[in-house]
Amino acid sequence: MAVDFERIKRDFPILNVKSHGKPLVYLDSAATSQKPRQVIDAVSDFYSNYNANINRGVYEISEKATEAYSNSKNKVSSFINAGGMEEIIYVRNATEAINLVAMSWGDQNIKKGDRILISEMEHHSNIVPWQLLAKKKGAALEYIKLTEDNTRLDMEDLKAKVESGPKLLSITHVSNVLGTINDVKRITEMAHKNGAAVLIDGAQSAPHMAVDVKDIGCDFFAFSGHKMLAPTGIGVLYGKSEVLESMPPFLGGGDMIKTVEKQSATWNDLPWKFEAGTSNIEGGIGLGVAVDYLNSIGMDNITAHESELTEYALSRLDGMSGVSVFGPGQKDLDIKTGVIAFAIKGVHPHDVASIFDNEGVAIRAGHHCAMPLVVGLAPEKAVARMSFYIYNRKEDIDRALKAIETIKRIFKIN
Ligand code: PMP
Repeated sequence: MAVDFERIKRDFPILNVKSHGKPLVYLDSAATSQKPRQVIDAVSDFYSNYNANINRGVYEISEKATEAYSNSKNKVSSFINAGGMEEIIYVRNATEAINLVAMSWGDQNIKKGDRILISEMEHHSNIVPWQLLAKKKGAALEYIKLTEDNTRLDMEDLKAKVESGPKLLSITHVSNVLGTINDVKRITEMAHKNGAAVLIDGAQSAPHMAVDVKDIGCDFFAFSGHKMLAPTGIGVLYGKSEVLESMPPFLGGGDMIKTVEKQSATWNDLPWKFEAGTSNIEGGIGLGVAVDYLNSIGMDNITAHESELTEYALSRLDGMSGVSVFGPGQKDLDIKTGVIAFAIKGVHPHDVASIFDNEGVAIRAGHHCAMPLVVGLAPEKAVARMSFYIYNRKEDIDRALKAIETIKRIFKIN
């Protein structure tokens, strides 16, 4: 059944806003997505009609809130094909999910002299937690190289480093700069064969493609609600239940305990063992509604829509004088999401983004929290980036292309 993406766009109130007097074109969904009215209404409905703390109340609105929050976890579990809500831990965002693994699993399992393997295309949130852990434990942090054209992982290097036996491989599913989709199933298989645990950073994949954690086989999978239509402040750590069972708590406090005595405590069941204190209830409920919304469109339809937009954009940018595009190109759309980093010769990416802004087009410029990658891409050590989602149309890309023409005119680039 064909999806009416024009109708979908109408579900997002913010897209009626004018920016610098022009209809807003939002091309920064890799940073955070916009929210459909269904999610906004669900949050408002919670506060208007059944706001109460969860898990403890014996009165009607608390039970309703508890049920909505738990339902959300069940929806998220199905969304990524996990084994049930005990494998779904709610945290603030992907960053906190990765830190949870570093501080709990890492503290328990990483010893002096061990090796932790990541790649050169990671976001800072999949670099810094491992730097902290490696320093604390006297472990080594190693990086899988990229191919010379900086478009994808160097699989030879990956193979060699995985075969040399790291304790943990933590790698992104999709690069937030290059848009490259990594073959995480194959990589997980290779890592497991060599005895490493595997964490996949799914911040840029879960919003845009069907994810099946059982099929991937990873031990952990981290992502953020705010990049997939949900409110900010809610994120997910998936962990295999047997791995989560073996790990010590991350934070201590209410809700994560079964019993507390003066000098000791026992831990609650999964997933609550890892959720100390009052949860982000509105965020959890909003995430459940966001998952319903994405499912109603169908993740494969979303991937196809974004791929069409990406192909359209790349076909027009390719060969445009003065413009360089990073990441896999038109011929490699099967390993590319709707994230397009680019540079315009002689123009600082911040000036590019400012001129886009004047045209009412929101894009991002800078190091994109991926400094080890981005400093090597362009002399400015920064790039501009446009990124697409379900509410974008080809007309939005035409507006971006028009902004590029304006920049070329101002800076006299032929
Ligand atoms: N990993 C990747 C690949 C990302 O793109 C991002 C967000 N830009 C993160 C992790 C961190 O997400 P958050 O800031 O929501 O924790």
